[in-house]
Amino acid sequence: MSYEVLARKWRPKSFEALVGQDNTVQALSNALDNDRLHHAYLFSGTRGVGKTTLARILAKSLNCEQSVSSKPCQKCSTCIDIDKGRFIDLIEVDAATNTKVESMRDLLENSQYAPTSGRFKVYIIDEVHMLSKSAFNSMLKTLEEPPSHVKFILATTDPKKIPITVISRCLQFNLKQMTTESISSYLKNILKEEKINAENEALDIISKAAHGSMRDALSILDQAIAYSGIEISTEKIISMLGTIDDVFLVSILNALAEDNGAKVMKLSKEMNQKSISFDLALEELARLIHKISIHQIIPESLSESSLNGEIKKLSTLFTAESLQLSYQIAINGRKDLDLAPDQYTGFNMTLLRMLAFYPSSQPVASFSAKKKIDPEVNVVKKENNLDVDSIDHSFNGDWEKLVNSLKIGIAKSLAQECALVSYQNNNFNLSLNENFSHLNQNNYVDKLEEVLTNYFNKKIKVNISLGNDLKTPSSQKKIESDGLMKTTESAIMDDRFVKQLINDFGAEVIASSIKPIKKKEK
Ligand SMILES: [Zn+2]
Repeated sequence: MSYEVLARKWRPKSFEALVGQDNTVQALSNALDNDRLHHAYLFSGTRGVGKTTLARILAKSLNCEQSVSSKPCQKCSTCIDIDKGRFIDLIEVDAATNTKVESMRDLLENSQYAPTSGRFKVYIIDEVHMLSKSAFNSMLKTLEEPPSHVKFILATTDPKKIPITVISRCLQFNLKQMTTESISSYLKNILKEEKINAENEALDIISKAAHGSMRDALSILDQAIAYSGIEISTEKIISMLGTIDDVFLVSILNALAEDNGAKVMKLSKEMNQKSISFDLALEELARLIHKISIHQIIPESLSESSLNGEIKKLSTLFTAESLQLSYQIAINGRKDLDLAPDQYTGFNMTLLRMLAFYPSSQPVASFSAKKKIDPEVNVVKKENNLDVDSIDHSFNGDWEKLVNSLKIGIAKSLAQECALVSYQNNNFNLSLNENFSHLNQNNYVDKLEEVLTNYFNKKIKVNISLGNDLKTPSSQKKIESDGLMKTTESAIMDDRFVKQLINDFGAEVIASSIKPIKKKEK
């Protein structure tokens, strides 16, 4: 027996079997069961999400010999003929190959005649946006006064190209892209029936590569079966698709966290030797960074995956800000990949950019900011030769330095506008610049207490009073930058070449254009 492709073999025959379109299925089922039928339907959505499958099930529901219902019997000759694609009153047209007005006119003329054996004559017009303007016009006439025995089901990947006059006469449904989870679980069910073993991770990779299209997922799975037989391994899928083993990405992020540029470059070189697609690698890297970010905010969010341990660990090594930045760099790097001298160079530069923007002191700061030390952190701790428990910060009275070294988040402005009055018995008594009294809010104060408590590893209380003429971190910064500005200005005015320009050529220095270049902080 010849091999039947999975997408055809496993094409859902009922609404229940259709995956990932619950809302549309619900609405259609209600309409069918309550006899509220429209004469024209429009299904829009990206390729492979089930538009024509849905259209055929709808056609079956309308014509099943038992009755019009959301649960066609699947046994009568009409149901069977529709499944086999040989029902005479179901007319499927691919508009992409029948764009001309003549073919549409023929079709519509034919629609005037009563159905041969069914209740309704059902026209499924796929990729309907491809029709010419005159073809649409001729269709519109039928849509305006449709014979009662005719149903139109239009499908499109590009609803914007359909005239509004046509859309307004249809009941429109937007079909959703499939989630990787729903694709993955569907593939798992199919393989069980097919008696083929596959590693979960291999299925996850296929689902992601399908970009929301079930049809693409099934055709990749066809290839995978042809390629690896009845044992589908992650390794084989990776080499088949040229995709990337997550191990590489995890190692890259770990190397970035360690500020280990040599290791980052070594990993990149290994990837190049394996002919991994760097475009895909950056896409996956962005996806991984997204997962880590989500985990930081919602720790319980992780779905079932072999990477979970790594994600937990990485989420303690990066601050939210550095994840944001790395994500942005990955996305932009991907965009620039075609402009790079070659993809390998582009990928390398993207990683180096991440490294350049990643403060090397970060792991230490994030350890101390972490309330509970979970096992994953302990693993990292050993690798970095740090004993978290022994970090016992003492306060030397330099409030400005303390504020600048901590990640304070929303309470940063508050901390910067405060001067230290005293510190005793774990109480920070601060004086807030009265011009910024609006910052004296409970949620800011609480946040500040939380950060300090985590940092000093003991309960800290913050007391705030108002004051003026304070020596705050923010005022200090201003004094410093003003000073730097003055020095810079006088340095420029003293410059021999500038003086010469002024004297000999009547040049003028535009004060606002002078900007001190700050030395890189150590
Ligand atoms: Zn039937």
